[in-house]
Amino acid sequence: MKMLILDDDPAMGALVRRIAERIGFVADAVTRAVDFRAACEASPPELVVLDLQIGEEDGIEQLRYLADNGYRVPIILISGHDRRVLGTARQLGGALGLDIIDALNKPLRAADLRATLERVGSTLRPLSPQVLLEAIRDDQFRLEYQPIVSRNPRKVLKLEALVRWNHPSRGLIPPDQFIPMAELHAEVIDALTEWVVREAAHDYHVLREKNLAVPIAVNVSAVNLHRLDFPDRMHAIVQGARIPDGEFSFEITEGTATRDPTQMMDVLGRLRLKGIDLSIDDFGMGYSSLLQLRQLPYSELKIDKSFIMDVTRSRDSLAVVRSVIDLARNMDMISIAEGVETEETAVLVESLGATGLQGYLIGRPMGIEQVAIWLRDWMIPVSA
Ligand code: C2E
Ligand code: CA
Ligand code: CA
Repeated sequence: MKMLILDDDPAMGALVRRIAERIGFVADAVTRAVDFRAACEASPPELVVLDLQIGEEDGIEQLRYLADNGYRVPIILISGHDRRVLGTARQLGGALGLDIIDALNKPLRAADLRATLERVGSTLRPLSPQVLLEAIRDDQFRLEYQPIVSRNPRKVLKLEALVRWNHPSRGLIPPDQFIPMAELHAEVIDALTEWVVREAAHDYHVLREKNLAVPIAVNVSAVNLHRLDFPDRMHAIVQGARIPDGEFSFEITEGTATRDPTQMMDVLGRLRLKGIDLSIDDFGMGYSSLLQLRQLPYSELKIDKSFIMDVTRSRDSLAVVRSVIDLARNMDMISIAEGVETEETAVLVESLGATGLQGYLIGRPMGIEQVAIWLRDWMIPVSA
């Protein structure tokens, strides 16, 4: 990200530049308006920091220059005058169609400037594997839990942990927008999966202390299975967190790329031996499902929500759902219908013999505090 600073005090320019560079900007500082314009023309900046008093000239003229020449960059204003001058310049900038994102008073507080630059930086900065890794280290993720239940007998089978990125400037980002990128780099998806397993293990105990212990399912990417030590690393976390056997399971989405089947058998087999149950996620969407079912130690099958969501309207979906539930039963596997949104759908898939239901009808993904409340309510039904 390129940033250009105009301040007639070279020490000030250097200070701003140092702070900006530490955040990841490529910064250039000039002291004269003529150099400022030359720099803009040579290579348009992506962010401008402008001092309103620059020797003979004034910053307002530079604002007009930027507007007249069509530079639509975000601008941070700095001024030693009182707040009113800054306010006026800000209004003028707005009237000229410029994007004045902040106005800071001199003497400049480094912390203020850093906060502003960080905020701008993260909105300008595209999401990248590096940004993701930093976010994992900064604990910017959170988990939500969605219940999976059977209604007859009435039982909460488990909670599925679903990750969200609580980005400091973009807000909550859904997993579909960053998991595919994380999967491009094994070390990124490995770090994320480890974070999720640790956090879920912590939350398991939060619920247990409230007498609401429920098994937890975590989503694992096929990329995670590339490393032979994956079962050992996961087992170490689960055991270190004192999670009883059988209380943690993994949902694995079948990868589209051809995986090494011997490696899959090795890794998945050892996960099972270490007390972690395995579920095949989004069943029906990949091409290798049937082969995987025969070869790999899954104990549960989740029918993709695209089939469930129109099972009451489409004869084809109905045929698929019925066959998959039969297949699971014949292989002594549990079958879960995900994406159950209506009572009609729930009744239908129950009548076909699905073991468990998951979907907005039962409960949406919720934060840990909210899920505790949900669990209490659900276990004591009003109608019972
Ligand atoms: P998934 O594993 O198939 O998870 C189910 C998704 O369906 C969730 O979306 C959930 O919010 C949504 N859903 C649940 N019930 C309903 C319903 O009744 N109707 C509709 N329309 N949608 C429903 P979410 O949370 O956005 O997650 C999307 C995907 O991201 C997940 O699909 C999973 O593949 C992936 N994912 C989530 N968390 C993780 C994680 O920690 N690690 C990995 N590797 N992938 C994750
Ligand atoms: Ca899943
Ligand atoms: Ca799914």
